[in-house]
Amino acid sequence: MSNNGMKTDVILIGAGIMSATLGSLLKELVPDWKITVLEQLREPGVESSNEWNNAGTGHSALCELNYTPERSDGSIDIKKAININEQFQLSRQFWSYLVDKGLIKHPEDFVMPLPHMSLVQGEKDVEFLKKRFEALSKSPLFSGMEFSNNPDKLKEWIPVIMEGRHSDEPIAATKIDSGTDVNFGALTRTLFDHLREKDVTINYNHSVKNMKRTSDGSWELKVKNLESGTVEYHTAKFVFLGAGGGSLHLLQKSGIPEGKGIGGFPVSGLFMVCNNPEVVEKHQAKVYGKAKVGAPPMSVPHLDTRYIDNKKSLLFGPFAGFSPKFLKTGSYFDLIRSVKPHNVFNMIGAGVKNFSLTKYLIQQVLLTKEKRMEELREFIPEAKSEDWDMVVAGQRVQVIKETEAGGKGTLQFGTEVVSAADGSIAALLGASPGASTAVHVMLEVIAKCFPERMQEWEPKIKEMIPSYGRSLSDNPALAKEVLERTAKTLGLINSYQEA
Ligand SMILES: Cc1cc2nc3c(=O)[nH]c(=O)nc-3n(C[C@H](O)[C@H](O)[C@H](O)COP(=O)(O)OP(=O)(O)OC[C@H]3O[C@@H](n4cnc5c(N)ncnc54)[C@H](O)[C@@H]3O)c2cc1C
Repeated sequence: MSNNGMKTDVILIGAGIMSATLGSLLKELVPDWKITVLEQLREPGVESSNEWNNAGTGHSALCELNYTPERSDGSIDIKKAININEQFQLSRQFWSYLVDKGLIKHPEDFVMPLPHMSLVQGEKDVEFLKKRFEALSKSPLFSGMEFSNNPDKLKEWIPVIMEGRHSDEPIAATKIDSGTDVNFGALTRTLFDHLREKDVTINYNHSVKNMKRTSDGSWELKVKNLESGTVEYHTAKFVFLGAGGGSLHLLQKSGIPEGKGIGGFPVSGLFMVCNNPEVVEKHQAKVYGKAKVGAPPMSVPHLDTRYIDNKKSLLFGPFAGFSPKFLKTGSYFDLIRSVKPHNVFNMIGAGVKNFSLTKYLIQQVLLTKEKRMEELREFIPEAKSEDWDMVVAGQRVQVIKETEAGGKGTLQFGTEVVSAADGSIAALLGASPGASTAVHVMLEVIAKCFPERMQEWEPKIKEMIPSYGRSLSDNPALAKEVLERTAKTLGLINSYQEA
């Protein structure tokens, strides 16, 4: 590689929500740093961050039952739910800061208030939901949640789901009005508009092919300009691999020891979209059910009101499936190309350990539309096939690695920041809880890669995100203030109630 290319302080690879968030945070912390974005597609927010490629749930554990497992003694563990809610509050505060400063003009373009509900059937699950409700209600972050097992009440909350339901099986739901529908595609595009105004250089149609360290510890990237067909070299002191499913390949190209051994397991997604305006109009919530036995946590079915392309829509899914691609616009060779001598045992281990999951995902891909309608009818008993179309969602690449608890080839369902010891490069792997926790994860990147600057930057971080470093759950007064203020700025519903 030559060394006479374009020099900058920071390179963000990928124009998704993660790079958008990191760039926006850094521009507030160090406005004079030069930032360059390299994106291989023609515009921002086309891959997983696009509104049609993800479920748009502002994940805050208000309705996702997999964040509150039942312990063996029957009690409910709410630790993970609190953690995820706290992380979402960081996003709400940062977005509110950008709105208050006039850097984002119209929050309603990307975040809308929407009740979050959990729905279960059968005595055992109703009992579980009641215990979950009681446990969460003790935390200020879940204040205002309601529980009901009264079919008349449920008819008020979710008429489309209750119509034509004749079973005598017990049924129950929780509802909280402070939930959100987030259009992460719109948010990504808004943040990139904002970054361009702040003099960030954004290069679309630029695909990063390789990278190496230079003698002064910077990174030199070999980049294909897809418009001109030429090869460019870009150098920076800090590089963020925010390439979504493409990050694993780039991490492997970097050769950093921290990336050794890691593999990726791609999971595809599919939604059903309602094309009947009458049905769309009658429903107003995100309703999460329980995952089927053998299903991965990211394929918990949910029926969601969404706000996309300036109109209300109704989506069901996502149905998880298997595809060897790491990006929706990726290649069928992505999975095989990611197998390296250093991760081959983890990949084989994951294949053996997750045989039933792989089988499940392949079976899901082969489902006919009518079979998918049967799953939908568990939510909407009277759903008609002609009212629903299918759309392909984004790809999620789950991390495979060796862990102390799981040994070789353990499949991780969370998000993971992998960074070099000297903080010169960081990659974001995994996709869950995903875009909702972008601010939390990008603050983690900043803390890992710029530890020497954290003391200097902390006052600014606290100005943007007042609860940074503090637990809202343990501090009801602060929780009340943060929930009230961010709800007002973002046009959301504040369901906080004094204990
Ligand atoms: C089906 C599904 C449902 C989901 N539901 C939710 C949800 O309800 N709530 C939630 O919070 N999260 C959800 N997520 C997760 C969320 O969408 C992702 O975590 C988030 O969008 C990831 O953002 P990103 O910026 O890392 O990646 P992306 O948005 O995928 O962006 C990566 C970018 O990098 C570019 N790129 C890749 N390789 C290169 C290269 N070599 N050179 C240059 N550019 C490159 C790509 O073109 C792409 O534009 C869901 C995801 C899926 C797939």
